Amino acid sequence: MTAKDERYYQAYLSHHSVSRRGLFRGVFGAAHKTLNSDMPRTITRPPFACAEHLFSEVCNGCGECARACPYGLIDVHSGKAELTIDFAACDFCRRCAQSCATNALNVAFKADTTLRPSFSENCLQRQNQSCDVCQQACPQQAISAELEVDNEKCNGCGECKIRCFMSAVQLVLTA
Ligand code: SF4
Ligand code: SF4
Repeated sequence: MTAKDERYYQAYLSHHSVSRRGLFRGVFGAAHKTLNSDMPRTITRPPFACAEHLFSEVCNGCGECARACPYGLIDVHSGKAELTIDFAACDFCRRCAQSCATNALNVAFKADTTLRPSFSENCLQRQNQSCDVCQQACPQQAISAELEVDNEKCNGCGECKIRCFMSAVQLVLTA
């Protein structure tokens, strides 16, 4: 395990009550095998996912998270769990993480899909018309009246995308 991995997990362990044994069996066991700890996420993972270089080692594609998600947001592609928000938002119910036997998903990790909204020209506000549907829909109050997104408040739930009747909101992977 690299020093960076160690810092990463110590930060979680100091803030969350998690099963150390479970984490050692899963992500810690994989950490020492992996070399590239800066691997960026190019695919959206479910919330509560560990860092991508560990996820790519630990997720075994069993599909338990996909079966657990009440909204059908998770599929397994190329042997790894992927999240797609097209028809329903994620409410961070934790069922995916609680069903994950390998700890690739674990409630100790961040409740964040790392998706963030981006507004297209279809947006009525961009056309100088009145609309605040996405701002009102956002459970985190992360969207300002000027459509600026507070990246710290936003957790990538996708509610803004789902609620926009102009299909003006895209979700962009940011991490
Ligand atoms: S937290 Fe719940 S709603 Fe969100 S992806 Fe996991 S199982 Fe689905
Ligand atoms: S801006 Fe709000 S509604 Fe949109 S993804 Fe972020 S938290 Fe969810």
